[in-house]
Amino acid sequence: MILSADTAVSSSDWNKLDLCSCITAETYEPFCSHTFQINKWEKDGQVSRELWEKAGQQGLLGVAIAEKHGGIGADILSSAVVWEEQMYVNCTGPGFSLHSDIVMPYIANYGTEEQIKRFIPQMVAGKCIGAIAMTEPGAGSDLQGVRTYAKKDGSDWILNGSKTFITNGWMCDVVIVVTVTNREARSPAHGISLFLVENGTKGFNKGRKLNKIGLKAQDTAELFFEDVRLPASALLGKENKGFYYLMAELPQERLVIADLALASCEFMFEETRDYVRQRKAFGKTVAHLQTVQHKLAEMKTNICVGRAFLDNCLQLHSEKRLDSPTASMAKYWASDLQNSVATQCVQLHGGSGYMWEYPIAKAFVDARVQPIYGGTNEIMKELIAREIVGDN
Ligand SMILES: Cc1cc2nc3c(=O)[nH]c(=O)nc-3n(C[C@H](O)[C@H](O)[C@H](O)COP(=O)(O)OP(=O)(O)OC[C@H]3O[C@@H](n4cnc5c(N)ncnc54)[C@H](O)[C@@H]3O)c2cc1C
Repeated sequence: MILSADTAVSSSDWNKLDLCSCITAETYEPFCSHTFQINKWEKDGQVSRELWEKAGQQGLLGVAIAEKHGGIGADILSSAVVWEEQMYVNCTGPGFSLHSDIVMPYIANYGTEEQIKRFIPQMVAGKCIGAIAMTEPGAGSDLQGVRTYAKKDGSDWILNGSKTFITNGWMCDVVIVVTVTNREARSPAHGISLFLVENGTKGFNKGRKLNKIGLKAQDTAELFFEDVRLPASALLGKENKGFYYLMAELPQERLVIADLALASCEFMFEETRDYVRQRKAFGKTVAHLQTVQHKLAEMKTNICVGRAFLDNCLQLHSEKRLDSPTASMAKYWASDLQNSVATQCVQLHGGSGYMWEYPIAKAFVDARVQPIYGGTNEIMKELIAREIVGDN
């Protein structure tokens, strides 16, 4: 959201921008500050329920979900303020963006009135945490390889299978499960449906919290479904249309990741700028060295170019004009930039950059997953290329 090349990117600027009446850096920062025990969350591998509810009270969840559905009723640009503010405080633990801008839209866009009423207000309040389970031990990039299967039993469904790497998986109260419902479909894509499975449903078990190299405070988990009996009302949208819903919603997921990546670049750049201006070597600050200045100049240029593209994508998306290949470009380019910036910023911190107490160390490991989830960057290139060489 910060366009000007000479803008110093820092969260304090947000107070001036006032893009969204319900969210400002002032409201966001207090509960993501260290007073809320980021270290404890990292040790626990999850944040607290209290944090979720506090975010709900402050109007930070379901920002872009329509008021008529129980959401805050602002636009996607306002949601982007929340994504970016979270990165500006280097706080990757809370899976708010996935909950608000990846999971909730499925319910708001494809849910029945009953489902919307049941879940959205609770999710906006932070009392019901959402997750989405696509990936399986044998199916990641190739979603058509999903094996989790739901069989009809009268008007009910019996669900069996397992999912892995699920963000918010440990804490979730409701999870959207991508499931095969027609094994005889003319292609796997024609036989996939989505189900809303609630925590506590018999046969739905959470496995371990996974021990990741980064995103230490985010609960990523395995989920198991063993003869889970689901009523017809658990089906989200139409039977066998799940793959189309995924294709429609994935561009927003990729845009979220891209914007988180750019905001993280902005954060890392400012951290590093501060560091090199105070760190002394050879009688001067490190910032006096020309090689360091050029490195900063290159990074700032790349980040500003990326920001201009990202803001354009956000604008297009707010007008419902962002197409899937462009969202893929944003995800791939911004997450690659994030990793390049992370590597250079750690280097400019010297040995301190390798120490956990320095924010840049955390930002560096957290960056690594961004080219992997939400569809790997190799898959992004496939999607971009398909449009370039396709017949239409
Ligand atoms: C921290 C974290 C959080 C996650 N959160 C979620 C979540 O909330 N919900 C969810 O459903 N999933 C989630 N995932 C899973 C993530 O989306 C998958 O890991 C990702 O899609 C890649 O799938 P895979 O791990 O099976 O890799 P694979 O598909 O096995 O890929 C392995 C390698 O092969 C490459 N490759 C595969 N196919 C092709 C191809 N056609 N062309 C070129 N290269 C190819 C890949 O790019 C990759 O480099 C998460 C993962 C992580 C690590």
